[in-house]
Amino acid sequence: MNPPEAAAGGAVLEREIRGEAAMEAFGARLAAVLPPGSRVYLAGELGAGKTTLVRGLLRGLGYRGRVKSPTYALVEPYEIDGRPVYHLDLYRLSDPEELEWIGIRELFADDALCLIEWPERGAGVLPPADLHIEIRHAGEARRLRLAAGSARGVELLRALAAGYPRES
Ligand code: ADP
Ligand code: MG
Repeated sequence: MNPPEAAAGGAVLEREIRGEAAMEAFGARLAAVLPPGSRVYLAGELGAGKTTLVRGLLRGLGYRGRVKSPTYALVEPYEIDGRPVYHLDLYRLSDPEELEWIGIRELFADDALCLIEWPERGAGVLPPADLHIEIRHAGEARRLRLAAGSARGVELLRALAAGYPRES
């Protein structure tokens, strides 16, 4: 994938986040600034905290059920506030072409929010992200690097940095 900064004027936000609860809270803050139809890609090794962040994000959107890791199913669909949300984990994808079999085009239709772990495994088939999140271990904590991949990504990073609530 191309460096997203190149497409979007270098909008980047870095944060160090300590602990699972803080990670979920950060996901909820992100939920508050995500326009419908955003594509958020989450990179980082196993155990980095990608699913934890997604769980906080889904809860922030108002989802109250259990958040399963979609590792075996590849995709876990939700409907939150009448809008489709797809959580994908491509760790077990052996070939990006397999994405065609799970109906990837439909997932990326219009107003569906897509949250994708291991996006690098779908390189070449996945459309560009609005927001790339890279998570690394930093001692007990995690270092997050959020980079915009589109104009929408630049806007939402700006809103996140300012702590603005979502307009709806
Ligand atoms: P991934 O989906 O990237 O494989 P998980 O979200 O399943 O990772 O998280 C793996 C572990 O990391 C969990 O035990 C979780 O509590 C912990 N964790 C997540 N975020 C943080 C954080 N910011 N600081 C410390 N531990 C975290
Ligand atoms: Mg995971």
